Amino acid sequence: MAKAFFLDRDGILNKAIVKNGKPYAPTKENQFKINFKFLPIIKYLKSLKYILIIITNQPDVKKKIIKKSQVNKFNLKLKNYFKLDDIFVCFSNNNKNYRRKPNPGMLLEAKNKWNINFKKSYFVGDRKSDIDAGIKVGVKTIFVDRNYKEKKPVNYNYKIKNLNKIKSLVKK
Ligand SMILES: [Mg+2]
Repeated sequence: MAKAFFLDRDGILNKAIVKNGKPYAPTKENQFKINFKFLPIIKYLKSLKYILIIITNQPDVKKKIIKKSQVNKFNLKLKNYFKLDDIFVCFSNNNKNYRRKPNPGMLLEAKNKWNINFKKSYFVGDRKSDIDAGIKVGVKTIFVDRNYKEKKPVNYNYKIKNLNKIKSLVKK
């Protein structure tokens, strides 16, 4: 079985748009900024044979704030830049949707597709919904605390302020 590093998108792979202390997804080309500093960490994880998978909620599509094609374009840029293995996206804004984080649907789809052992895997994200989704399936969770003005997760395995810390958490 494979091991995976599940990656939230906004606030991790690209910069989140922070308004009044809350994070939002970029909607325009000029707002979309790749988090270039994360590349060495991604390369490190790749060298440890982790499968790298984006798990992202993009409800602005359902809300008609952004087109699905534009979201897919951003996602493809990230996949190509970081050389990621796969992307799972949920466009729904319905909290009962099984695929929408904090629900575990996308993680389970990824597990089946890639034959992933959750116990050997990680989820890194900057919001409670990321950590809660990870906890539900039993991966190790890394909360990147960006001090947003919103409810913070509890029961994560690790809390970090800087993505570089991942290198010391995940050892060979
Ligand atoms: Mg995020």
